[in-house]
Amino acid sequence: MFKKEQIIKGVSASPGIAIGKAYVISEDILKVEKRIIKDAELSEEIKNLETALLKTKREIVDIQSKMAKEMGSNYANIFDVQLMLLEDRVLLEEIIERLRKELLGVEYIFFDVLKKYKRALEKLEDPYLKERAQDVNDFGKRVLKNLIGKDASRIKELRNKAIIIAHDLSPSEAAVLNPEYVLGLVTESGGSTTHTAIMAKSFEIPAVVGTGSIMGNIEIDDPIIIDGSRGVLIVNPHQATLKEYENKKNKIDEKFLNLLKLKDLKSQTKDGTSIKIMANIELSHEVKSAINHGADGVGLYRTEYLYLNRSDLPSEEEQYQAYKLVTLQMTPNTVIIRTLDLGGDKLVSQLDMSYELNPFLGWRAIRFCLARPAIFKVQLRAILRASVHGDLQIMFPMISNIEEMEEARKIVNEVMQEFDKEEIPYNKDVKIGAMIETPSVAMTCDHFKNKADFFSIGTNDLIQYTIAVDRINEKIAYLYDPAHPGVLRLIENIIQKSGENNIPVGMCGEMAGESRYLPLLLGLGLRNFSVSPLIIPELKLVASSVTLDQAKEIAREVMGLSSREKIRQYLSLKLREILGSDYAELIEA
Ligand code: PEP
Ligand code: MG
Repeated sequence: MFKKEQIIKGVSASPGIAIGKAYVISEDILKVEKRIIKDAELSEEIKNLETALLKTKREIVDIQSKMAKEMGSNYANIFDVQLMLLEDRVLLEEIIERLRKELLGVEYIFFDVLKKYKRALEKLEDPYLKERAQDVNDFGKRVLKNLIGKDASRIKELRNKAIIIAHDLSPSEAAVLNPEYVLGLVTESGGSTTHTAIMAKSFEIPAVVGTGSIMGNIEIDDPIIIDGSRGVLIVNPHQATLKEYENKKNKIDEKFLNLLKLKDLKSQTKDGTSIKIMANIELSHEVKSAINHGADGVGLYRTEYLYLNRSDLPSEEEQYQAYKLVTLQMTPNTVIIRTLDLGGDKLVSQLDMSYELNPFLGWRAIRFCLARPAIFKVQLRAILRASVHGDLQIMFPMISNIEEMEEARKIVNEVMQEFDKEEIPYNKDVKIGAMIETPSVAMTCDHFKNKADFFSIGTNDLIQYTIAVDRINEKIAYLYDPAHPGVLRLIENIIQKSGENNIPVGMCGEMAGESRYLPLLLGLGLRNFSVSPLIIPELKLVASSVTLDQAKEIAREVMGLSSREKIRQYLSLKLREILGSDYAELIEA
């Protein structure tokens, strides 16, 4: 049957073009593999189910009481059906009986029994009862997540090359994307700085996010084109469109190859001012890609990825090995290890982090670590042990006041004292810095003199808190904009005040990786940048094409403009002028 070509606009998340077949990950179809078990394992399987049910009950009661507090008990009642299912003896007995008879993994039996319940409800005439099928589905997903101990199974199933289409991917799912199979990625939700977008970039997988509702229009194996740089998705392309994009893809692949040749360019401006272009990494093995793209170090190691997709916490030794590996490979360059930044959109089941109404304003990052010093200390011990292997520095995420900085440093000092007693070597002069992600710290960064050894501007969060725009909400992605004059003034203030107080400052949010902002940021006085490895050669090229005087003039001009659109247009125009037509084409291909 002939299918109509559809062109869908979303938000650009990771550059490049992908052409392939759709692999649609529907929300309510969970696939669970069959696993054969032995008689002797029966009691262990039943115990696992009971533990998962108990954990699910705690989660639901917790959410319910929070909802009751925030929105009233009527809303909280929506979980009643799920609680009833948790107490349902008949359901439990049916599962146990089948387990004994069939000797298959408990997750499969549980899933299969629940599927029958769901189908039976869907067949009913009564619309109220029919709707309860959704409750059964939600309940099943919750229990399965606790039973399997992770929620990344949807992606792992992929065994053929395809373009993933999903409503949403959690950071833990994004962390297991396999570039060998995942040609491209599209999500209905999200903005350009969601962690899914960031992971796609580090795996060099073209991605478009925030398309809004599209899954109803796409079937498994439909031909798909993604233009990640422009944020465009084409479903069932015509032959001519396919040809056009095949050509474009070749051009872009060539562009990346050509840019890669520039990876060993010195990181400096045209008139010889040295700068640093470092890499953001999420997993230790990415340090190779950082080196291959010419990074001057690792400016942001998002260590929370070590905590995802598992049912336990990473031990001190495991963390030490990961930090040591990255540090040794990067020596003599700096490696900045960001301490645990969980919460927000990165939740882990093993840490009792429950649902919050405003997770990005909630119990996340340093707030969580200060409340759980035992967990924090394990990480700090691992980092300090690794500090003897090179220039390793520590950075705290989401600092919102001076007391948090003091408190976090105090805990580092405690660990150092423990090490002195235990005679464990570490770098006594290890540098300890803070991310600037909140407007409160952006405005008061001068107070951090003698408290923070360096700063790194986390624009991904700083922008969402400054403009009051949720970075993962596709409906308002149009408002999320580094070019907002309010954001630029905050950045200008940070650079100026940090300079006056001799606190080195860099930028590690996604804004640093958008080449059109580089001349402006250089002109404002920024010298350190940390970006996705893929972007490093491009930034080196832009830096080496602009003089400091030109950059200062650009900054002067931009800081006088009040319109985001005008700022973006002006910066794009200047980038073209700076690079000249040959190179501009290289970047715009
Ligand atoms: C940021 O907020 O800019 C940042 C680098 O941290 P993350 O994207 O991990 O929140
Ligand atoms: Mg952040």
